[in-house]
Amino acid sequence: MSDLEHLKELIGERKEMAEFLDEALSAVEQSDSLESLERVRVEMLGKKGKVSAIFRGIPSLPPSERPVLGEIANTLRRVLSDEIARKKSVLLAEEEREKLSEAALDVTLPGRRKRLGHKHLLSSVIDEIISIFLTLGYRVEEGPEIELDYYNFEALNQPAYHPARSLQDSFYVKRRDPEKNYPDDVLLRTHTSPVQIRVMESDSPPLYVVSPGKAYRRDEVDATHSAVFHQVEGFAVDRDINMGHLKGTLEVFIKKLFGEKREARFRPHFFPFTEPSAEMDISCFACSGKGCALCKGSGWLEIMGCGMIDPNVFGYVSYDPERFSGFAFGMGVERIAQLKYGIDDMRVFFENDTRFLEQF
Ligand SMILES: [Zn+2]
Repeated sequence: MSDLEHLKELIGERKEMAEFLDEALSAVEQSDSLESLERVRVEMLGKKGKVSAIFRGIPSLPPSERPVLGEIANTLRRVLSDEIARKKSVLLAEEEREKLSEAALDVTLPGRRKRLGHKHLLSSVIDEIISIFLTLGYRVEEGPEIELDYYNFEALNQPAYHPARSLQDSFYVKRRDPEKNYPDDVLLRTHTSPVQIRVMESDSPPLYVVSPGKAYRRDEVDATHSAVFHQVEGFAVDRDINMGHLKGTLEVFIKKLFGEKREARFRPHFFPFTEPSAEMDISCFACSGKGCALCKGSGWLEIMGCGMIDPNVFGYVSYDPERFSGFAFGMGVERIAQLKYGIDDMRVFFENDTRFLEQF
C-alpha cells in the first residue's frame, strides 16, 4: 500500500482533511515553475504552514483522537514532501529541455551574413589605371618602399646637391656614415621612380612597365598633402621611342580613364630624370574648358608629369642611348581619384571611415 492510499484510509470520513489533501495535491500538480512549487512547499510544509498547523492542533483534541491525527499529520507531511520532490524533478527536466532547445541549431533561421570587406577607393583607382595599361601591353612591376639613396635619387640623375634630397623632404631610415659602415643612405622612397632603375638594371629592352605603390614625403597633412601617398609610374624603353609615342600613349590613357571627350595638352616642365620633360593637363570635365572652381578658371587640370628618359639615366643601367630611347610618366593616385570622384579633401582616403569608403 502506498503512503497516499494509507493516508486516504486514515482520513476516512474526515471531510475537511480530505478536502485539504485534494487541494494540496492539486496545488503541487499545477505548479508550472520551480518558483511556484517552492511557494506551495512553504505554504504547506513551512514552519507556519498548514501541515504544521495540524500538528499544533493535536494537543487540543480529545485524547482518543490524538494518535490518529498524529499519524495523519506525519503521513500527510511525507506524502506532500514526496509529491513536491517528484514535481520538482519534472520541472527541472523541463527547464533543462528548454535550455537545450534554445541552444539547438534552427536551420530555418536566415543565416547571419558576415560583413564583407570593401575595396578601398584608392585600390580601385590603381586597378583601373593598371588595367588600361595592361590592354596597351604593359606589365606590372613593384619595388621596395624602403629604398637606397642610389635608386631613389642618384641613378635618377639627382646628384648629391639636388634640392629634392634635402633632409626636410625625405624620411631617412639610415644616414650614410663611413665609420659605421653604412655604404648608402636608406630612406622611404619619395616616389615610385626607383622601380624604373631596378627593372632596367635586371632586364633588357624592350620594356613596357607600370609600377603602382606608396611613396613618402615629409609633408604636413592637409587637404592636398599627405606624408604617405600613392603613385603609378610607367615607362617604356625600346628602339626609336619618341615624344609622339609618349603623347599618343597618355592620350589613349586619359580618354579611357576620364572619357572620350577629354583633350590633353603638354606644358614644358623640369624633372631631373627626363629630358625633355612635360606636365600633362586634361581639359576640365567640370566646365569643358570654360573655366570653373575645379580648374581654378584655367579650363585645364594637371594630371601627371612625364618626359623622355634622360640619356644620363641610361648610363646608370648600361643601356646604349644610341640604340635605345624611352619615356616615363608618373601620376598621383590620390589626385586622380579626387578629380574623378569629386573629392576635395584627400584626408578622407586615410581616415578609414566606412561611411565614405562604402560609397565607391
Ligand atoms: Zn573647369
